[in-house]
Amino acid sequence: MIEPVEGVAPQRARCVTASNPGVLTLAGTNTWVLFEPDAERCIVVDPGPDDASHLDAVLIEVERVGCEVALILLTHGHADHSAAVGALHAQTQAPVRGLDPAWCRGTVPLRDREQIEVDGLTVQVIATPGHTADSVCFFLPRDGALLTGDTILGEGSSLIAWPDGRLGDYLNSLKRLRDLAAAGGSLTLLPGHGPLVLWGLPAIDTLIAHRTKRLAQVTDVLDAGASTVGEVVTAVYGLSGPALHDVVIAQVQSQLEYLSSKGNSRAADAMHG
Ligand SMILES: [Zn+2]
Repeated sequence: MIEPVEGVAPQRARCVTASNPGVLTLAGTNTWVLFEPDAERCIVVDPGPDDASHLDAVLIEVERVGCEVALILLTHGHADHSAAVGALHAQTQAPVRGLDPAWCRGTVPLRDREQIEVDGLTVQVIATPGHTADSVCFFLPRDGALLTGDTILGEGSSLIAWPDGRLGDYLNSLKRLRDLAAAGGSLTLLPGHGPLVLWGLPAIDTLIAHRTKRLAQVTDVLDAGASTVGEVVTAVYGLSGPALHDVVIAQVQSQLEYLSSKGNSRAADAMHG
């Protein structure tokens, strides 16, 4: 559990981490409980995987902050964030909202720039496609904090779930979040996996620089003669474990598609090579 630090970390968010650690999930999925101090109702973001003990822990935290669940939100539909939606909805009767209508229960899908109010708590919806097409972030303006789902992780770089996720969308989303961070003076990131990030702006700059460097690497290996997805994977990423292989191929496909969209004919050829 990530505890708030007075004067530094958000006062309106509590984290309960699920026991599903892994290469892609880091320490596990973070479920966030959002509430205005002294409110009677709260929001649960990303109920997490299908794990009754995790759901129990989330409901204990909800009780600890003295609230009932008024709303369930999803940052995106991946199962490690969403599989417990049905169970939490059944237990609380709280409506469920995501950008994808398929997830919604008892209410309408989220809209970009929408402002959600629950018992004095304000949450702004920011559509951030890229990791997936349905990815959103949730901004808590009074805490200067942003729930990032899998758009930004607490450690390392996020994955593009190509072809649902697109690198061009992802870069645009990072720029949008950078503008938010730059405008606010400071921005704390509350990720879907990994620890919170106190300094959002430099973290986002690091991610943009990482992506830019990776695209330059891919461009270089294409110029040097790599002509298939497999050759680019080997040249850019070297050897990778079998568990990650499909993921790495998807990253390269997303990079080739992006470069192709920018007019790189070698990238277009390699995608089909
Ligand atoms: Zn995800």
